[in-house]
Amino acid sequence: MEYNLITVNAGHSAKAPGAGANGYKEHVYARMIKDKVIARFKSVGVKTVDTTSNASTPSAVLAEQAKKCNAQPKGGRLDVSIHLNSGGGTGCEVLYYSEKALAAKVSDAIADVTGYKNRGAKERKELYFLRNTSAPAILIEVCFIDSKNDMKILNAKMNDIANAIVKAITGKSVHESKPAPKPPKKDDNKDDLYKVQTGAFKDKGNAERLAAELKKRGVSTYIVKE
Ligand SMILES: [Zn+2]
Repeated sequence: MEYNLITVNAGHSAKAPGAGANGYKEHVYARMIKDKVIARFKSVGVKTVDTTSNASTPSAVLAEQAKKCNAQPKGGRLDVSIHLNSGGGTGCEVLYYSEKALAAKVSDAIADVTGYKNRGAKERKELYFLRNTSAPAILIEVCFIDSKNDMKILNAKMNDIANAIVKAITGKSVHESKPAPKPPKKDDNKDDLYKVQTGAFKDKGNAERLAAELKKRGVSTYIVKE
C-alpha cells in the first residue's frame, strides 16, 4: 500500500508525561524519534503532517492527536503514533487496529536494525489513538524505556531506527546525506615563512649586486644580515 499522506505524532506531553525511568522521559524520546521519522518521510518525498499534541492532560493529548489526524484527507492516509514501552520488558512492538501486516513489518524492521527482541504486531482495538483516527493507524512501541539496554541501543541507533520505520512503511530507502568532505588539512605552522635563498656573501656589496640583478629580473629580494 502506498500512502500519499502520513501523519506522525509523539505520544504524551511535558505536562502529561508518559513513562519514565533512569532519567529518560517517554515524551522527550518519542519527540526525538518523531522528528527523525518526519524528516525521513519528507526526504523520500512522502507528505507528512506532525500531529503531536502538547496538551496538559492525557485525554486532551489523545483527543488533539486524533483531531489533528482526522483534519487531514482520509484517502491514502496512514496515522502513526510513536511511544516507548515500559513495565519491565524488552524489545519493540507495533500495535494496530486493522493493519496487522504493516505493524508486523515495522516491528520486524526495527528489530532487524537494533537486535531488539521482536515482540511483533499486537491488535489493540481499545486504544484511543487506534480507535479514533479515521484512517489506518499504527502505534509504535519502539523499545522499553525502563530497560537500560534497550535505551543504550536506542541512543546509539536512533537514526537507523527512523530509517527502518520509513523503509518499512514506504518501501523507500532513506539515503543518508553524505558527510561533508573533510576540510583540507591546515598547516599547523601557518605563520612560518618559507624563504628561497639565492646566495650568501661575506661582502655586503656582492650581496647588493645580486639583489639588484634579481630585482631587474622581477624577483623581489631583501638582504638579511646574520
Ligand atoms: Zn506511551
